[in-house]
Amino acid sequence: MKNWWKRRTLKLRLTLCYAAATAVVLGVFAWVAYEVVEHRLGAELDRQLRIDFDVIEAQLDKDAAGQIRWPVRGAHGDEGYARLSAWFEVWSEDRQLLFRHWPVRDADIRNPPPAPVESSLRFYTLELENDLHVRTMERPARVHELGVIVRLFRDETDMRRTLGQIVEVFMLAAPLAVLLAALGGYFVARRSLMPVAAIAEQARKITSESLSKRLPIPNPHDELGQLATVFNETLARLENSFAELKRFTADASHELRTPLTALRTVGEVALRQGDSNPALRETIGSMLEEAQRLNDLIESLLTLARMEGGKISTKPEQVKLAELAGEVRDNLSILAADKQQTIDVTGDDRLMVTADRLLLRQALMNIAHNAVCYSLPQTRIAIGTTQRDSQVVIEVSDQGPGIAPEHQEKIFDRFYRVDKSRSRADGGNGLGLAIAKWSVEHQGGHIELESELGKGSVFRIVLPSA
Ligand code: ADP
Repeated sequence: MKNWWKRRTLKLRLTLCYAAATAVVLGVFAWVAYEVVEHRLGAELDRQLRIDFDVIEAQLDKDAAGQIRWPVRGAHGDEGYARLSAWFEVWSEDRQLLFRHWPVRDADIRNPPPAPVESSLRFYTLELENDLHVRTMERPARVHELGVIVRLFRDETDMRRTLGQIVEVFMLAAPLAVLLAALGGYFVARRSLMPVAAIAEQARKITSESLSKRLPIPNPHDELGQLATVFNETLARLENSFAELKRFTADASHELRTPLTALRTVGEVALRQGDSNPALRETIGSMLEEAQRLNDLIESLLTLARMEGGKISTKPEQVKLAELAGEVRDNLSILAADKQQTIDVTGDDRLMVTADRLLLRQALMNIAHNAVCYSLPQTRIAIGTTQRDSQVVIEVSDQGPGIAPEHQEKIFDRFYRVDKSRSRADGGNGLGLAIAKWSVEHQGGHIELESELGKGSVFRIVLPSA
């Protein structure tokens, strides 16, 4: 039950609470009303019984033989009424029935009530046959010096009917009232929680790339408004920290360039001076190689930092895809020739896309570079360009090792490499695909990947067509 409750929406929970509270209030109200009415009606019956007693006691008489008589004169001479409504018994103090006047004949009384127990004033309800309830009063009296107990009855049917009607009305009205309360509660809850949906929707859109966005503040004075304000302040602080971090990466990369360039120059000069010590030459050679790698890494880091810092402005232009693919193939031709690989470019020569040429070239270059690097010698790499509905697709397929499904999402993360040692040997730094992804997404496109271990990979750059 607890779990069920927890899994419901706040809206539903508020509605149910509202309905339950209304049901409880109505229940208590109905109970109090019932008790008050029952008490008032009961008291009225008792009052009438007392009046009956006063009238009847004054009329009771004894005949010559000492028997109790009721001459029935009626208080105002209306004997018929007195005869009909009076319903009483007279008992002797030793519990002998002396006189009985009932609206039915004695012979029809199947279950006469037992003799009075006490000789004092007493009110109680008695159940006779056929579910007939009668209010009963017992009271000691005197008839010409003879001590008796008079017992009077009044039918409770009317009173019970009234109480029954109260219960019926409640049973009919209560579900309706609870339903109305639930509807009202739902409406109020929905209205007051509406801003929450808007805030959640906006919060969902905020990522590390869009920290400058802020949540809507429907009303700064209420609780939700205060929450959104606090959240916005947190976002502002986060945005600041992120900006600082990006600035730091950009500054650090920039600062590292100068000493690195100096290092390379020194190495190259030393090699050119023609020192004949082969071991020394080899050491300088590998030092220069490492320096080149470091240089590539710094360039990549700087590119990413600039991209994320919003420092790269895009210049959309008409780009001929076949031309771009040819350019990338030419750039990689030496690397591919080293591994006796072929790079084929296919597709419609006239296919164009509106994009930033440099960014698109960088993305395609990084992907195609990977295809060359990670494929075995003497394999084929294909760069194809096609139109797909309202999109253009640049597809790079290789016959390389393929990428296992669990890595496919992650290879687009920064510094993520599937086979760290091999990538490192190939000069990879784990930033190529992150840069490619940013470049393509920044232009409204996305990168798709299809890959099977041992068979090869297909990377697709998908862009909205011009
Ligand atoms: P790297 O600089 O290491 O190549 P990338 O971001 O370009 O970094 O690629 C991330 C990882 O994805 C690579 O280290 C490699 O393990 C895997 N990868 C990328 N392209 C391919 C491919 N065509 N075939 C197999 N693995 C690939």
